[in-house]
Amino acid sequence: MVPAISVAIDGPAGAGKSTVARELARRLGFLYIDTGAMYRAITLKALRRRLNLADEESLKALANQSRIELTTDPDRLTRVFLDGEDVTQAIREPEVTRHVSMVASLPGVREIMVDRQRELARSKNVVMDGRDVGTVVLPDAQVKVFLTASPEARARRRQRDLLARGYHVPLDSLVEEIMERDRQDSCRSIAPLKPAPDAWVIDSSDLSAEQVVEMIAARVLGRAS
Ligand code: C5P
Repeated sequence: MVPAISVAIDGPAGAGKSTVARELARRLGFLYIDTGAMYRAITLKALRRRLNLADEESLKALANQSRIELTTDPDRLTRVFLDGEDVTQAIREPEVTRHVSMVASLPGVREIMVDRQRELARSKNVVMDGRDVGTVVLPDAQVKVFLTASPEARARRRQRDLLARGYHVPLDSLVEEIMERDRQDSCRSIAPLKPAPDAWVIDSSDLSAEQVVEMIAARVLGRAS
């Protein structure tokens, strides 16, 4: 069997990871796995059950009992199912966004998620995006990218995305929220957000998503040939 190819795309919130990873996966015919969506789904379930988000044991039990499925439609829409329910929209609600870093900082929850992510990549070619894919989940990924952009560029993109979903949020509060999420994700002791030593760092502040996809696709195809 030809070993599966993995492409890891990590980086901070709003750098364009999911847009780039999804399009790259489509171009290459690989499976796209959004690891952030998995942490979001657990966070949504915990909020609905009004659990104490700092209670690692109950969050771990919750993660263990939860079925999370990620699918990509032919029209490129990525759908997320939690225990069979379509939660694609619900996991992007601001309430989930505000609490997800806290849930993702629990080692017991990460252990379960990382195992599932590795399992998904074991037999299939994947493009996986997240914070710790190149450092922890798939340290042997053939291509590792750390995609970043200035906080302002990231906040502007997030503002556009939110507006498309009907939320009007002022730019300065988005810059603040993004910087706070960066701080939480970079300072945590377990799997902090940082480029793998062998990651290719791409600053996308002045690049379009298409340009970034083109650059990464060329490298993956070069490695695969
Ligand atoms: O990528 P997205 O913004 O949807 O991720 C939501 C949150 O999930 C991140 O802010 C981070 O706290 C957490 N996360 C993580 N590890 C990953 C992916 C996401 O800790 N691999």
